[in-house]
Amino acid sequence: MNSAEIRQKFLDFFAQRQHQIVPSAPLVVKDDPTLMFINSGMAPFKDYFLGNKPAPSKRIADTQKCLRVSGKHNDLEEVGYDTYHHTMFEMLGNWSFGDYFKKEALAWSWELLTEVYQLPKDRLYVSVFQGDDSENLPMDQEAFDIWKSMIAEDRILMGNKKDNFWEMGDTGPCGPCSEIHVDLRTDEERAQVDGKTLVNADHPQVVEIWNNVFMEFNRLADGSLVKLPAQHVDTGMGFERLCMAIQGKRSNYDTDVFQPLIQFIAKEAGVVYGENEQVDIAIRVMADHIRAIAFAISDGQLPSNNKAGYVIRRILRRAVRYSFTFLDFKKPFLYKLAAVLADQMENVFPELKAQLSFVQRVIEEEENAFLRTLENGLKRLDALEAKFKENNNTIDGKTAFELYDTFGFPLDLTALIAREKGLKVDEAGFGVEMEQQKNRSRNASAQEQSDWVIIQPDVETEFLGYEHDVADSHIVRYRQVKTKSKSEYHIVLDRTPFYAESGGQVGDTGYLISNAEQIEVLDTKKENDLILHITSKLPQNIEATFRSEVDFERRNLIRKNHSATHLLHAALRKVLGEHVQQKGSLVNEKVLRFDFSHFAKVTDEQLREVENIVNQRVRQAIPLEEQRNIPIAEAKEMGAMALFGEKYGEFVRVIAFDRDHSVELCGGIHVHNTGEIGYFKILSESSVAAGVRRIEATTAASAEEYMQQQLNELNAVREVLGTHSNISGAVQKLQEDNKALQKQLEQFELKQLTTLKESLVQKAQSIDGVNFVAEKVDVSTADYLKKLAFDMRQAVDNLVLVLAAEIDGKPQIAVMLSDNLVSDRKLNASQMVRELAKEIKGGGGGQPFYATAGGKDTSGLTAVPAKAAELVKTLINA
Ligand code: ATP
Ligand code: MG
Repeated sequence: MNSAEIRQKFLDFFAQRQHQIVPSAPLVVKDDPTLMFINSGMAPFKDYFLGNKPAPSKRIADTQKCLRVSGKHNDLEEVGYDTYHHTMFEMLGNWSFGDYFKKEALAWSWELLTEVYQLPKDRLYVSVFQGDDSENLPMDQEAFDIWKSMIAEDRILMGNKKDNFWEMGDTGPCGPCSEIHVDLRTDEERAQVDGKTLVNADHPQVVEIWNNVFMEFNRLADGSLVKLPAQHVDTGMGFERLCMAIQGKRSNYDTDVFQPLIQFIAKEAGVVYGENEQVDIAIRVMADHIRAIAFAISDGQLPSNNKAGYVIRRILRRAVRYSFTFLDFKKPFLYKLAAVLADQMENVFPELKAQLSFVQRVIEEEENAFLRTLENGLKRLDALEAKFKENNNTIDGKTAFELYDTFGFPLDLTALIAREKGLKVDEAGFGVEMEQQKNRSRNASAQEQSDWVIIQPDVETEFLGYEHDVADSHIVRYRQVKTKSKSEYHIVLDRTPFYAESGGQVGDTGYLISNAEQIEVLDTKKENDLILHITSKLPQNIEATFRSEVDFERRNLIRKNHSATHLLHAALRKVLGEHVQQKGSLVNEKVLRFDFSHFAKVTDEQLREVENIVNQRVRQAIPLEEQRNIPIAEAKEMGAMALFGEKYGEFVRVIAFDRDHSVELCGGIHVHNTGEIGYFKILSESSVAAGVRRIEATTAASAEEYMQQQLNELNAVREVLGTHSNISGAVQKLQEDNKALQKQLEQFELKQLTTLKESLVQKAQSIDGVNFVAEKVDVSTADYLKKLAFDMRQAVDNLVLVLAAEIDGKPQIAVMLSDNLVSDRKLNASQMVRELAKEIKGGGGGQPFYATAGGKDTSGLTAVPAKAAELVKTLINA
């Protein structure tokens, strides 16, 4: 059975059992501060478990892209070394939201594995939760009894809290679970060691494949458990591990999920997979990491310097390090792998293929940058080698940490390079530095968040913001969040006109007003599906009725900018082409920012054209056509483009300004008619990342203000020029005149210099067979001083020349000697100029025949010629 068939059979099995099959959510999590990436099949459904929102269907199944590289579930360091943990993997899952429970879930999993997939029963083990006294949790007798009716009792193992009580994160839904493990060893191996003893013992051929979690609790911030409003089933089966079991392989990497990637890497590297453990690890790291990198980017997370972007950057760098060190790839290569992956995954996750050239460009650019960094790091190590040798042949902890921190060299890489150079690394010292940095960032980001205080349970907020700016509301829950620098409250209302930051549009601000008081709303944010009103204090009377009032003026500016962003998007696609896709946006009351995929600078001409199209649409006063809750298929038929990395429900909101022009899926606030935008003006165009351009623009009064400013400046120029027509002609003429004058001036100065030279030649004085000239001269630049010195050298033999001059208000001295005086009489211009520079409180140097000095004291210049004469006399006599 190939992997595509295995995946399909899973989905079909649960579809036949009334499960709705849904597509995978994007990997990147947007509205949840506790999670950066989806790390399990249940994460996109968190709200349903918590009862924040009803599930669209009581039974759901899917394959979900998961990433375990940060937070509670982080497998990154295992990846490549073992054969069954990945950064990005697919989790097959079936869910019951308050519907079926343990009996059905366990029976179905058994049926699917043993009958549909035909896994031999005598290779399977199951585990149930043994209970935990410290939390007062009983053993899962029910699961045990269900299993006993299907499988021999000695194959049912008791598991502790670590293995059999599943938690998504430090807080959130959780519950006891029952795992299924498979023993893939050979018959001989199995005869020697009982498989039972290898379950949960990190054995590469005795691995967990499926976990059935029975969600019953919510873990609160204070660590306590409370019962969830309903009981749910959450199951997760590792797709790649399942393929290994069904295809009878000993490693996930030997299945058809990874082989195309592995073969491609091996061929390009000129090696054979399976011959050398270190090389194999590197190949596995690359085959694994490209999946995490490519899918994260196609889901909208570009590598960057902070947060989720930094996690992706680190994964990419880990892959480059291994390929650089063990496979000798010194040029970008990973980006090529993305194409192999895209072909392979086209039918399951088409988003990668659809954006392949963009994704490749981003990866290649990152690889290039990191390869340069690696090289610089290696140079740094080379440069410090002598120092390490003196330091008892050891790279000190501080340097090792600097390499890690600024050059991305992890300790193992530094140690490897050190070994090649016959050096050691002070690993303890490195650990100390690392710990110190961790403490610094822990202190900076420490935040304390209280649990929700529920005023009214089970209330789903009604959002009124599309029609209203004001509403009567009640608080349904609140909590306090403290960081080192501030303390704030998150307030959730039963009804609200406040728009929470999302889709690039900033959150609303305003007031919650009761009879007794007025609380300022500083911002509005989303957390999953909760709308959080952020305030700096709590109302005295939590249960009062509040008039919630959005800052209307500000919102009006925001909505103009948001609608203009849609018009801009449409115009860009018209002018630049259909490859233009939104890659990010920011809309606030001042500007709009739009990032989009495009591979070249947008020319001024194209920008004008875009601007003109948008302003034309503004003048046409096109009415807003808003459709809420239409099926996504219908929206796509209207021409609305779904953005990659955006999570859409079955029903969506469509915003159109003329269906033939601009149709978008959007949850934001818009003008009723494009005429309200007034005027649209592009402020700048720039590059943000490989293949991504950014346009900043503004509308209405601030666009007007901007134009006003530009005109004012122009008028000021007109005023100065004293002309109102052909300004650029006038400026050009000025520039030309200026150039001509400059030339004249130069010629004049050169002529003067010649005259000066001639007079100096006349002044030459003979001291013991040497032609000595020392003068304070009048020249305007250091270049002229130098020219004068060199001209003199041409004109006079046996020359000792000392020139002193004030240039731009500062004293300068130049000493020039004929070559024969340097070689035969052992004079040295550098030494002489240093001695003379004392007169001007300065210093200098140069070559033996020519040297210069600068100083601080111009008044000393006049003394220089006499001092020079003395100096020469002593030097020559000596
Ligand atoms: P393990 O103990 O092997 O790390 P887990 O207990 O972390 O597994 P769960 O969180 O229960 O796993 O996830 C459900 C299933 O997802 C597992 O049974 C396994 O098949 C799969 N899985 C978990 N982590 C990974 C990973 N990093 N790579 C591939 N598959 C995984
Ligand atoms: Mg794990």
